[in-house]
Amino acid sequence: MGQHIIIAGGGSAGWMAAALFARLRPAPDTRITLVESDAIGTIGVGEATIPILRDFNRLLGLHEPDFVAATQGSFKLGIEFVGWGEAGNRHFHGFGDFGAPIEGVAPHHHWLRLRAAGGIADPIDAWSMPALAAARDRFAPPEALRGEAAEYRYAYHFDAGLYAQLLRSYAEARGVTRVEGRIVAAERDPETGNLAGLLLDGDRRITGDLCIDCTGFSSRLLGDALGTPFIDWSRWLPADRALAQGCTRAGRFTPFTRSTAHAVGWQWRVPLQHRTGNGLVYSSAYLSDDEAAARLAADLDGDAIGDPRPLRFTTGRRERFWAHNVVAIGLAAGFMEPLESTSLQLVQTGLVRLAELLPTTGAADAAVIDEYNRATIGEYERIRDFLIAHYCISRRPEPFWRDMAAMSLPDSLAHKLALWDAIGRVPLYDRESHAEPSWVAVLLGQGRIPRGHEPTADRPPLDALDRLFRERRAELEAALPRLPAHDHFVAKTCRARTA
Ligand SMILES: Cc1cc2nc3c(=O)[nH]c(=O)nc-3n(C[C@H](O)[C@H](O)[C@H](O)COP(=O)(O)OP(=O)(O)OC[C@H]3O[C@@H](n4cnc5c(N)ncnc54)[C@H](O)[C@@H]3O)c2cc1C
Repeated sequence: MGQHIIIAGGGSAGWMAAALFARLRPAPDTRITLVESDAIGTIGVGEATIPILRDFNRLLGLHEPDFVAATQGSFKLGIEFVGWGEAGNRHFHGFGDFGAPIEGVAPHHHWLRLRAAGGIADPIDAWSMPALAAARDRFAPPEALRGEAAEYRYAYHFDAGLYAQLLRSYAEARGVTRVEGRIVAAERDPETGNLAGLLLDGDRRITGDLCIDCTGFSSRLLGDALGTPFIDWSRWLPADRALAQGCTRAGRFTPFTRSTAHAVGWQWRVPLQHRTGNGLVYSSAYLSDDEAAARLAADLDGDAIGDPRPLRFTTGRRERFWAHNVVAIGLAAGFMEPLESTSLQLVQTGLVRLAELLPTTGAADAAVIDEYNRATIGEYERIRDFLIAHYCISRRPEPFWRDMAAMSLPDSLAHKLALWDAIGRVPLYDRESHAEPSWVAVLLGQGRIPRGHEPTADRPPLDALDRLFRERRAELEAALPRLPAHDHFVAKTCRARTA
């Protein structure tokens, strides 16, 4: 008999796992069972993504217009940050570069040089196609354009519950068995330490070769059953609460997520076809739940739909993600606030890595498990640094922000910021999921101007450089009218039936 994979949990992580393994390890060689409890339910948020999710959908063979329509989705060119560096600050982290390298040097060094010479006044966003298109609420995939203007990527916003439903249909159609029930205990093999079986309510027991723990924050298998410690990162990322609240659609149908900083945290705004998702992320040490609710209610575009949903979390990760025959994916593995929409990315990359490393028969070699953990820890730590950077460089005056600016940073981030301050270069480490343009967007966007630039940027004559920047900008501006309005694009290609 072939391998039996048990997936514990049916939130986004569980159904993404089921769909991917059904696709890559089809029956009958692999049997897949997913256990979930309707009584416990899912977290249900997780609506903004990054472009890598397109690879996941492509791997499954999902047709983009059908997927967007089925999930009440919209398109995302990046994130607009409002009020982060200081009150009134506005910048865009777009999914793209600021133009091709010039004489082999990244464009932001030339921008810094021109700026220092007094030749440029506009923010670097003016050379980002996603930022320019987003400012005008325009969207089409880059294939609609040519040349430099076509150098961008995109992601989606979607209803997380509908995405899980779509993946469930996909997985069940490919032989995944869903078992409704609550896991009440886990048995361990006294010799190997492996999970030997899961006990479900109603005196049921299931056994498998590998358990993928997708039980959310409770981490029933990796955390509870195996006792894998949790590494707490809240000294760097102290937000521990969120209030999520949908509202009716009103105002702009933006092809981007908005993140608005407030006195003790920030607020997200995610446009969907049938509603707008909103949420306030804050630290309970600085803001009471009642104050948070009042602040969120005052800041909605449309009428509130239902009651706000309170969520509590601690930022951090499990010490190991794969131990014995258990691999944790999603919230069971760790959590970092959704500032850069990275949770579903971590679900996806964890699953793909697992599929690449998991043997088709027999137990995994210790080296394979170590490699999975090494790579996953690296990815978590790099995202952690990127998120901390958003906070620690802010010049906002409120006590929360002053504390964030004064904190002692992880060495990896301290080095990154020091090199940036010196010559505008971003050292990239192993497993970095945000490339240099992402760091440039956030650092320059918040007004963290380096003292210098890479010396190689001094080669081109200043007047030629100035001309080139003007030409590039003109090329991007000229391309903009060829992009339709975001709402027209959605209405024409992927309108949901009940939007
Ligand atoms: C405030 C907030 C905002 C977020 N925003 C984003 C975002 O914009 N973008 C993004 O990528 N991510 C975001 N995330 C993260 C995203 O929501 C999660 O990564 C994603 O939903 C995966 O969750 P999950 O499946 O791991 O857990 P859950 O959704 O909690 O699912 C857990 C599953 O396990 C089952 N279960 C638990 N215990 C048992 C048991 N004993 N027996 C049987 N079944 C059990 C439950 O029934 C459920 O099916 C956000 C998270 C939070 C908290």
